[in-house]
Amino acid sequence: MNTEDLIKQSASEQRKALLNKEVKATEILDALYKHIEAENAEIGDFNSLTQDEAYETAKKVDEKIANGEDLPKLAGIPLALKDNINLKGFKTTASSKILENFVSPYDATVSKKLKENLIPVVGKTNLDEFAMGSSNENSAFNNVKNPWNLNKVPGGSSGGSAAAVSAYHSTLALGSDTGGSIRLPASFCGIVGMKPTYGRVSRYGLIAFGSSLDQIGPFARTVEDCALLAEAIAGYDEHDSTSLNLEVPDMTQNLNKDIKGMKIGVIKELYETGLAPDVRKALDDAIQAYKNLGAEIEMISLPLIKYSIGVYYIVATAEASSNLARYDGVKYGYRAPNCESLIEMYNKTRAQGFGEEVKRRIMLGTYALSSGYYDAYYKKAQQLRRLIKNDFDHAFEKVDMLMCPTCPDTAFDIGSKSEDPLAMYLTDIATITANLAGIPAMSLPFALDSNKMPIGIQLLAPMLKEDRMFNFAYKLEQVADFNNKHQNNFAQKTVC
Ligand code: GLN
Repeated sequence: MNTEDLIKQSASEQRKALLNKEVKATEILDALYKHIEAENAEIGDFNSLTQDEAYETAKKVDEKIANGEDLPKLAGIPLALKDNINLKGFKTTASSKILENFVSPYDATVSKKLKENLIPVVGKTNLDEFAMGSSNENSAFNNVKNPWNLNKVPGGSSGGSAAAVSAYHSTLALGSDTGGSIRLPASFCGIVGMKPTYGRVSRYGLIAFGSSLDQIGPFARTVEDCALLAEAIAGYDEHDSTSLNLEVPDMTQNLNKDIKGMKIGVIKELYETGLAPDVRKALDDAIQAYKNLGAEIEMISLPLIKYSIGVYYIVATAEASSNLARYDGVKYGYRAPNCESLIEMYNKTRAQGFGEEVKRRIMLGTYALSSGYYDAYYKKAQQLRRLIKNDFDHAFEKVDMLMCPTCPDTAFDIGSKSEDPLAMYLTDIATITANLAGIPAMSLPFALDSNKMPIGIQLLAPMLKEDRMFNFAYKLEQVADFNNKHQNNFAQKTVC
C-alpha cells in the first residue's frame, strides 16, 4: 500500500502495516507533513509543527520494529495536540496573543503518556482562544476551516484537532472539552470525539479554563482508535488533585459485545424541538438502527436541561475569571511595553493580550462572583448543577445509555454567528450537560445532511462507563459505515 492510502487508514490498520514492515513510522510522517505543508495555509488546523519531536519518536519506533521488540498499541501512530496542552520545549499558545511566545518548560501528564506510548506528536493545533468558543473564530491567529466545506466552521473550541484528523493530517488528536469542545467539532468534521469521565484523565499541563469542567479527550476516525487513545491517556496522577485513583479499564474489551436487551434513553428535550430536519432524520435512523440491534428505546425527560446553558455560562466564566487572573505580564507571557506603574502594566497587558470573547468571559465571571451577586448567580448555578446531575443519576437508574444529536444543526457558515454570542452559546445545548454532570460522552459521525455536511450522534454514559459507551458507539459505527462516506468525499476534495 502506498503512503497516500495509508494516511487515510485507521490506527489499527497503520499498526498492521508498521508491524508487517510495509511502511516505516518516519514514512507515515513524511506523507502527512507533505499534506500539512500543502494544505495548512488553507485549513489553518495547526498553529505550529513539532517535527523534531515527531521524528525522534518515529525513529525509536522504527528501531524497535527492526529489532523485533514489543510495542505499545499506538506506537508510531501520529497525533495532533491541541495548543492548550503543554509539550516540553515547544510553544503552547492557547491561540492567544498573551501566550504567543510561551515555550512550555514541562510536559503535561498526557504528553508524558504520549511519549511513553511512543506516539509521535505532529504539531500543535489551533483552537478558540483559551478554548472559549464553538466555532474556532475566536483564535487570535487563524480561523480554522471545515475540511468538508471551507466556507463552514469546524466547530470549537478544538477545531484544529478535529480538522486535522478529518483532513487526514493526523490519525489521532487530543482536544479539551469544557462544554463540548471535543464533541462539537468532532460532529461538525465527521469524526469520533470523546470526553472522558471528569477525573479520568489528568488535567496537569492543560491550560485551565473551567477547572471543574475541563477534561482532555481523544479524536479519531474510528471508535476503536478513539477507545485505544482514551485508554493510553487515562489514569491517576498525583499532580492533579481531581484525578481519580482508579484502575483504567481495557476500553476496547467490550467493543463488539451484543447490546440486545440493553436500554437506551433518547433525551426528550433534545428530540422534540429545535432540531434541523436532517439532524432529526439522522437521529430517527440511529434509533431504528439500535432497535434493529435488539436494544430497547425509551424517551427520557431531563427537564432541567433547559437551564444548562445558563448554569454553564455562570460556572465556566466564574472559574475562567479566576484561572485567567495569572496572565498579568509578570511571570510569563506577553507584557505591554512602556508602562510607568505596575497597575498600568497589568491593565495594558490584559487589555492588549486578551481577545474580545476572553474579555467578555472574564467580565461575566467576575460579575457572577462579586459580593452581592454571588448568591444570586454563582451559588444558584451550583445548586442547579447538582440538580442536573441528579436528573442524570435518575435517568441511569432506568437506562444503560442516553442519546441525542451532538448539535441541533450541522456546521454553520463562517461569520454567521460571530456577531451574536448568544446564538453561538446555543450550539452547546446538547453537549454542556455532560460536563456539568461529570459523565463521559462522545460524538460519532452517523450521516450527511442535504449539503453533504456530517451529522454527529452523541452518546452519554454513566460515570466511568466509557467501555460501555465505546461498545454502543462501535455497534452504531458499523451501521453508519461513515468512513467510506468520508473517504469518498475527500477523494474529490481538499486532499490532493
Ligand atoms: N463552546 C463552549 C464555550 O465556549 C465550550 C468550550 C469548551 O468546551 N472548551 O465555553
